[in-house]
Amino acid sequence: MLSENWQNVVFLVASVLFLYGLKGLTHPRKAVRGNLMSSVAMLLAILAVLLGKNPVAEGGGPVIDSSHWWVVLVALLVGSVVGSVLALKIQMTAMPQMVGLLNGFGGLASMLVAAAEMFDKADGIQRGIDVGYLSHADILPFTTATMLAGLIGAVTFTGSLVAFGKLQGIVKDSWSRIPARQFITIGLLAASVVFAVLGMFIPWNTFYWILCVFSLALGVMLVLPIGGADMPVVIALLNSYSGLAACATGFVIENTVLIIAGSLVGASGIILTQIMCKAMNRSLTNVLFGGLGTGTPVAGPSADEVYGGKIKATSAEEIAMLFDGAQRVVFVPGYGMAVAQCQHAVRDLGKMLEEKGIEVEYAIHPVAGRMPGHMNVLLAEADVPYDKLKEMDEINPTFPQTDVAIVIGANDVVNPVARTDPKSPIAGMPILDVDKARTVVMIKRSLSPGFAGIPNPLFAADNCLMYFADGKKAILDIVAAVKQG
Ligand code: NDP
Repeated sequence: MLSENWQNVVFLVASVLFLYGLKGLTHPRKAVRGNLMSSVAMLLAILAVLLGKNPVAEGGGPVIDSSHWWVVLVALLVGSVVGSVLALKIQMTAMPQMVGLLNGFGGLASMLVAAAEMFDKADGIQRGIDVGYLSHADILPFTTATMLAGLIGAVTFTGSLVAFGKLQGIVKDSWSRIPARQFITIGLLAASVVFAVLGMFIPWNTFYWILCVFSLALGVMLVLPIGGADMPVVIALLNSYSGLAACATGFVIENTVLIIAGSLVGASGIILTQIMCKAMNRSLTNVLFGGLGTGTPVAGPSADEVYGGKIKATSAEEIAMLFDGAQRVVFVPGYGMAVAQCQHAVRDLGKMLEEKGIEVEYAIHPVAGRMPGHMNVLLAEADVPYDKLKEMDEINPTFPQTDVAIVIGANDVVNPVARTDPKSPIAGMPILDVDKARTVVMIKRSLSPGFAGIPNPLFAADNCLMYFADGKKAILDIVAAVKQG
């Protein structure tokens, strides 16, 4: 058995590795190493816990009774097999859903671990209070951490499941039209807080379960009405919640490395949430409680009204001809580039244009795709130089001097309705001003809408040409046409 001192040394090493791992994730070149460091840290932490002393057991015996090792081994085996199969099989485009699910399971684990600890201790604590060797003040840190782990863990679990459903297209926005939804949500929040406070002062298992039931329902009600431009913020926030729940559970089971790892996830998630809020021009309260209004999105004009007779289709040859007189071309990637996996073809086309003396840049919208940094990751994978990737604030003033803007599978992030229609689900979201370029080429397979589900008047604009094709095929055809020309 690992002594307490050695266990703490391993926890310290793991915590330092977590910090360096996180630092590595701030740059694409060091991200893989950062991930590896964090994985090693997690392995060390798990081993140190399994081999160490049980800090909360009377007498400090081993964490796992020798007759129960098989349970841990089976759980490790099942978890590793499921995790490996998922990691190998998952499509790059389904990563956000997977991250959403992992957040949710993190919340569920925190809720259940805190529950197990509560069940183990509740009777003993009550007896201690009854006979007078424990006071309420003595138990308050433990019960407070337990109730927080239950509340945040439960909200994270169901909130993440709903976010997963929305990203996967299983949960529809129309489901949020529940009568008196805002009252139900406020009622659930109030009930959760009441039972959390009750549980803090009266260590009774039933209060914990009642708290969990209300909080599970609260998670659903909080995330259900959030949609359109606000989903990226919610995903970052749920990530942060999963860290906070883990941190609270760390206090419950007195595990320092869990407290540190949970705090890191909680803090980095909050920072990411702030960044996403700023990018979307939203305040956090607006995202969380804006959806508490009537919840009935105002129907804008239909696709037929927006597009009727105004769409101009183009071909690869015509696009190649556009490049002949161009001095500046900007590529605008979106979710469709991730689906088509055409980032390498886009890089090749960019290089060809540069060889013709054309200035080429890539416009990155902070919420393009389905996860923060999605486009940066894809283009970095294709070795597009980082200095060619321009953030929205930097590239927007240059669109009026851009000859051709090539939009590859982006839709919501270039939809001018965000600027013009205050009732649209993406109202107020800053967009890439591609409509100001001399010519816009939209590469997508059809006129179907993006994540927010609304028509895009840009498709019908005078300076917009539609190239209807899968992203990869379209770019490869344009490359061929440029070569021939
Ligand atoms: P959108 O979801 O608005 O549009 C993507 C477009 O890609 C679709 O209109 C689709 O049109 C097209 N497409 C799909 N497959 C292909 C393909 N194989 N080849 C070519 N085109 C294809 O994407 P954006 O990146 O513009 O916007 C992101 C949206 O997702 C925003 O609303 C954002 O709020 C939301 N979101 C972002 C998250 C993030 O963290 N980044 C997280 C959650 C949501 P068609 O079917 O006609 O081809």
